[in-house]
Amino acid sequence: MEITIKTTKKQELIDITSKVESLINIEKGICHLFTPHATAALMIQENADPNICDDILTTLNKIIPLHNNYKHDKIDNNAAAHIKAGIIGPSEIIPVKDGKLQLGTWQNIFLVELDGPRTRKLIIKIISD
Ligand code: ZN
Repeated sequence: MEITIKTTKKQELIDITSKVESLINIEKGICHLFTPHATAALMIQENADPNICDDILTTLNKIIPLHNNYKHDKIDNNAAAHIKAGIIGPSEIIPVKDGKLQLGTWQNIFLVELDGPRTRKLIIKIISD
């Protein structure tokens, strides 16, 4: 299965948990998520306080500044987004039990946009035990 997500900002975390949950059609197994982009990533993260999303982006931008004489910036000016996406990673695996994602109470699934706004694809494989 595939879903598309339209991002609206240069950098943002978009909660995609309910979209993924609505696709779960097995009782027990795993849900594999993959985003086929070099400047976006997936992250499982706190869901109760939206400030954490700002804190994550602020911290990432402190560690990996938007511009830092990166060689790739001479080509398409988005090296920082590639570096962040590589560190965070493009995939997550979540166990499914009783027809539900086994996320913790404080965990949701986020698409991390690092060079938006763009239309992002999410590939979802749901595998039954
Ligand atoms: Zn690039």
